[in-house]
Amino acid sequence: MPEEFCVVCGRTDVSTEAGVCADCYAGRQALVKVPERPKVVLCPTCGARMLGAHWEGRGRSPTLLGAEDLYAFLNPDPEVAIRTVEWTEDSRHPLLREVEGTVHLRFRGTERTQRVAMTVKIEHRTCEDCSRRSGHYFTATIQLRGMEDRLREKSPQLRERLMRAWESALPEARPEWQRALSWFEERPEGYDFYLTDTLSARSLARLMKSRLSARLKESATLWGRKNGQDVYRVTLCLRVPPALPMPSAASGPSTGRSRRASRTAAL
Ligand SMILES: [Zn+2]
Ligand SMILES: [Zn+2]
Repeated sequence: MPEEFCVVCGRTDVSTEAGVCADCYAGRQALVKVPERPKVVLCPTCGARMLGAHWEGRGRSPTLLGAEDLYAFLNPDPEVAIRTVEWTEDSRHPLLREVEGTVHLRFRGTERTQRVAMTVKIEHRTCEDCSRRSGHYFTATIQLRGMEDRLREKSPQLRERLMRAWESALPEARPEWQRALSWFEERPEGYDFYLTDTLSARSLARLMKSRLSARLKESATLWGRKNGQDVYRVTLCLRVPPALPMPSAASGPSTGRSRRASRTAAL
């Protein structure tokens, strides 16, 4: 039986794969490949990253590349297990980042280190959420609040209670009401939900009023004129009492609708 030896270096004291020892294999080709000029598409407002056709990772840095962004570009040899990567970045240009990585990896039983370098292009694109928000398209707001504007509870606890209540009743809302919910914002005294359809907003607010035994007050503000008519935006303020009663289907008529609000409803 012929002795096993590396066809490149001729060593016989090492194991080989397809006639080549690990050192020679690693010397001849990169164990981890990277694209030369990869691209990261990110939303400059919220930091979300575009992955394929959708957006992920809201809240990540809208200006800096992170290890998560860079790790995605590493293409290791099938026999390679990446242990850790140290990244350094040289950013003379804000949208063109010279990135170097020191990849610590394991290959055929030994630990090795390989350097990778790439120029990452950053492309700014406003994500769907942010473009909807920046368009400020909404016709109604549902304010979710405690019983009074003075904060008796600490903000985080109050918000947690309100969101729990909101989410407990939301599944009962019709799909079209839920679809009208565009985005929400935290306030010290609760939440503001922005909706793209006033009738859905009103229906949803009434459902919440009944399920959460809340008080509901509707008001309208003049927003602008369209086709010679005043256009109003409706604000529905829900005040949710602290103790959640048992869910009940009974609900009284809505109260507090202002005359201006009725005009809006007729639009
Ligand atoms: Zn060899
Ligand atoms: Zn965004």
